[in-house]
Amino acid sequence: MPISKLAPFRTRTLARALVSATLALSLALGAATPLPAGQRAWIEVKSPHFRVLTDGSVGDARHLARQFEQMRAVFGVGFPKMRLDTGAILTILAPQNEYDLRDLAPNFWGKSASKVGGIFQDGWERKYAIVRLDQNREGLQYTAVYHEYTHTLLHANFQWLPTWLDEGLAEFYGNSRFEGSKTYVGAPSVHVQLLRQKTLIRLDELIAENPWVKFSNDQDGRDLFYAESWALVHYLMMSPEMGRGAKINQFYKAIMNREPQQKAFQEAFGNFADVEKGLREYVSKFLFSSYSIDNPPQINEKDFPERTMSVAETEAEIGTYRFWSHDRSESRQSIEQALRDDPNQPLAHETLGFLDFADGKDKEASADFAKAVELDPSRFLARFYKAMLAYYSVPNPALDDMRALRTAMYAVTGANNAFAPADVQLAFVMARVGDLQGALVMAQRAEALEPHRAGYHLLVARILIASNYSVGALKEIQFVADRWRGPDRNEAVELWHEVPGTPVPSDEIQVNLSPADLKDPNALAKAIPKTANGTVSSIDCGDKHKLVLQTSSGPQTFTAPEGRTVVGYSDTFWWAGDHFNLCHEATGLRAVVRYKADTAKDGSMGTWTALELREDLPTPMSTAASPAPANAVPTSPAANPASAKPAESRPTPPPPTPKI
Ligand SMILES: [Zn+2]
Repeated sequence: MPISKLAPFRTRTLARALVSATLALSLALGAATPLPAGQRAWIEVKSPHFRVLTDGSVGDARHLARQFEQMRAVFGVGFPKMRLDTGAILTILAPQNEYDLRDLAPNFWGKSASKVGGIFQDGWERKYAIVRLDQNREGLQYTAVYHEYTHTLLHANFQWLPTWLDEGLAEFYGNSRFEGSKTYVGAPSVHVQLLRQKTLIRLDELIAENPWVKFSNDQDGRDLFYAESWALVHYLMMSPEMGRGAKINQFYKAIMNREPQQKAFQEAFGNFADVEKGLREYVSKFLFSSYSIDNPPQINEKDFPERTMSVAETEAEIGTYRFWSHDRSESRQSIEQALRDDPNQPLAHETLGFLDFADGKDKEASADFAKAVELDPSRFLARFYKAMLAYYSVPNPALDDMRALRTAMYAVTGANNAFAPADVQLAFVMARVGDLQGALVMAQRAEALEPHRAGYHLLVARILIASNYSVGALKEIQFVADRWRGPDRNEAVELWHEVPGTPVPSDEIQVNLSPADLKDPNALAKAIPKTANGTVSSIDCGDKHKLVLQTSSGPQTFTAPEGRTVVGYSDTFWWAGDHFNLCHEATGLRAVVRYKADTAKDGSMGTWTALELREDLPTPMSTAASPAPANAVPTSPAANPASAKPAESRPTPPPPTPKI
């Protein structure tokens, strides 16, 4: 999924959060606003699985934490095998009202705070649920927040879901109602009104669409897509003729076996005309059935411990949220204030590390992360970034550097067993020393933890190719190529060329044609992007993102147009997800550039429209001169429940070469 609009800042997570939040937020870029003078200390309430930070009352925070526990229980009861915790840290921030919400991250919230009751901001390392306490009323219970929370659980458990099912399930569960000691799942939604007024989207179209492409400039169309996806899932989940959800399992199994969606849908639910008729009748009913779940008996909000945080800790939490909301200058102000108030505040040091890293100051960032780890050894993010920066500061890493990285990554997983990027790094370390079996175990573990990341499937494929097991590799590659779009799909297609004897599909390239292009064959030929392969030598973020690519025929220069560009990168890059910065991270990486060959006067090849950064499996280093040390620890940790991904038919890769 790594697609982002090109910008000098890290917009990827933000773009995703905004796209998926069903809330229209405008980013008002104004002057930096400092924290209010004399920041008030916030309160922390901890329930068994959630942490709520608030400047409101303890009672309201406890109530909110209990609602999240109830929401979690909906999945725990309904799907006993579902994994309910993810590697990213979820923090629930609960400002009292609109004004406090705006103070949290002034640039991000701008003028939108008055319109928003709650939003979920997704990230690879941190997730935030932001809820305004004054909006926690019966019937208005943060549907958008629980919608996104549902997505995070779905994405941690399902390798892929078609858009209608992903959004429909998120709307279905996100609309749960908490009343007294019960949670009602499948409660009627405001969507019903809309659906009764409009002509439904044809089902064969609905299931094939990506609403963000199809309805990119059509809010009404998008609303209808969400409403109808919700109704369809409600119908499939609750109506007796659809087996109250049983047929969804049949459908999911079929699409996982590469059966085309249209065929799988009709085999599971009936032909489109019949299902459409049934759906229309279902929507026109006056009553929607729901089911209720009793609150988990062990969850009693009065028992949730609370404490008042220090002012410095409050500032550090707010500064950290501001960083993840891309309010960087405000973030730095709060973090520096936190460190003036308490020079030993660990979170403030960690976030200062991310701020310095974002500015390209790796040395300072290393020192910040080291300080955070020294003050609080449980800070796995600081540990991870400290280790990665140390590793990449060495020009030609030797066996000792590998050993240090491996030890550091085990410490990261020791602090957070579900943080998949550490497993990816362990897979790379093992591949580097030729231990493909160990690398496969770690890569499969990452894949099982974050099945929604295309690049993790492709990492497994790369290791299987290196192990000469092309059948298994092809399965992974086809899985990604069939289901993902854009740079992820192209990465799969590129890898497909390494599996001999199979026909490979072509790349998917974004083409923006104007009416004039279609009239003139010469213009049309120029408008279709060409492809160049090489390594990024430099990128000039001050000059229209001028890009120099070292290719097999020498350096080639490209300029970026002002319009839309696509930047994609392998999910396995260590800074992936939350910390990609085109200006600092792209140089030296293998890249595929799509460009329009226009008649540039400055000697450039043209304007680039897409940049796809790729990460290969490292080539094994020469270890002949480096005997395994006596204190070597096993490279493949045994008994790892998260790596329980079916691998029955896979032959064992070659025995490991020197262990480190
Ligand atoms: Zn959604």
